[in-house]
Formats: sequence, C-alpha cells, structure tokens
Amino acid sequence: MSDESQTIMLSALQHYAYCPRQFALIHIEQVWAENYFTAHGNLLHERVDSCDPEQRGNVRYERGVAVKSTQLRITGKLDLLEVEGKPPTKYFPVEYKRGKPKIEDWDKIQLCAQALCLEEMREVTIKEGALWYWQVRKREPVSIDDALRAVTLAAIEGAHQLLSLGRTPPPTDKKKRCRACSLVDLCEPDAFRRDHSSEYVEGIFVDATGDSPNEN
Ligand code: SF4
Repeated sequence: MSDESQTIMLSALQHYAYCPRQFALIHIEQVWAENYFTAHGNLLHERVDSCDPEQRGNVRYERGVAVKSTQLRITGKLDLLEVEGKPPTKYFPVEYKRGKPKIEDWDKIQLCAQALCLEEMREVTIKEGALWYWQVRKREPVSIDDALRAVTLAAIEGAHQLLSLGRTPPPTDKKKRCRACSLVDLCEPDAFRRDHSSEYVEGIFVDATGDSPNEN
C-alpha cells in the first residue's frame, strides 16, 4: 500500500522503465552520478525551458509547462506544449531528448504520463504527442493509444510500489543497459549479480504488470 501523499516526478518514470534498480538508487537511496549523456540532456532541457512562449499562426507554443495528476500522484514539467486553435483546443505535448529514437518505450512513457496529467488538468483527451531527438534532429510522432497508456499506468503503479517499499531491487538482467547507465560504478551490477542475488528475496516486490522488475 503506497503513501497517498507520495508524488513521483515524470522524469523518474523513465528511470523506472529503464531499470527499477536505477529508479531506486536515485529516488530511494538519493544516489546520483552525472555522465556526459545526463549532463548534455540537462543542458538541452534548460535551453528549451528558458525559451519564451510564442504564437505562430493558429498554434501557441508554451515552454516549461508545469503539470500534475492528483489521481496518479505524478508531477513534472513539459518541455513544449503546442496549443492549437480556439476551443475545442487541441493539446500536443512534445518532449525533447538528447539521443535518438529507441525501440523501447522509456521515452514514450514519460510523454504519455505528461498527456495523462494534461487530460486530468484540462479535461481533454490527448491522442498524440511527439518526441524530438537532438542527436538526429528528428521529431517522432507518438500515438497516446491504449497500449501505451497501459504500460505507462503500470510504470506509475510500479514506481509508487517500489518507493513505498523503500527497497532497492537487484540489477536488471538486460546487461546492455548497464553500459550506458550513469550509475554503473555506484551500482556495481556485476558484483551484485555475483555476490548477492541469491540473498534477495524473490517476489518481495512484484510490479503492477505481475512481472519481476528485472524484466523491464
Ligand atoms: S548499472 Fe545496470 S542494474 Fe545498475 S542501475 Fe544502471 S542499468 Fe540498473
């Protein structure tokens, strides 16, 4: 049972989706390590957030928009919100990312969570948003469909459960992810796998999908 006053940052959902252990290290143990990728990503967000809103034709571009969902207990900031037309207004969230499009849903989950916040705050339905990738200068449209909503809600629920539990799960079994992880030196996944995995009580944490968090 999670604490009703507990709120999760939208950006933390990406950590959870990438690796629940990374989420726990950052948001439970308060461990953080900057690497080139995270530093560059932060700079990109700062630049985007500092831009003024502007109107171009029928569309208003709002930057650094604060959003939250009381129901889901998530909060954060949108890089860009495109507001099109007069009521019924179309809202289109855009999230800026440093790298390039990914096969996995990590970035899409954060975008979908932003859409869920907007839907609750402005009583609208959002069908589409976009991810803009700096490295390849590409804007990728994302459908906020039922499948993505389900994955996102599962990530939100899983993150709340993990935060309430206050325990750091074992490393992901997706070892490739560890190579790009800024926390690899602090996490020491190989040492943990070698020495401690048998000590972890399997099943003590089961995420909202019913899977082990290692399977994300
Ligand atoms: S090093 Fe690997 S197991 Fe550790 S937090 Fe990063 S991705 Fe997760």
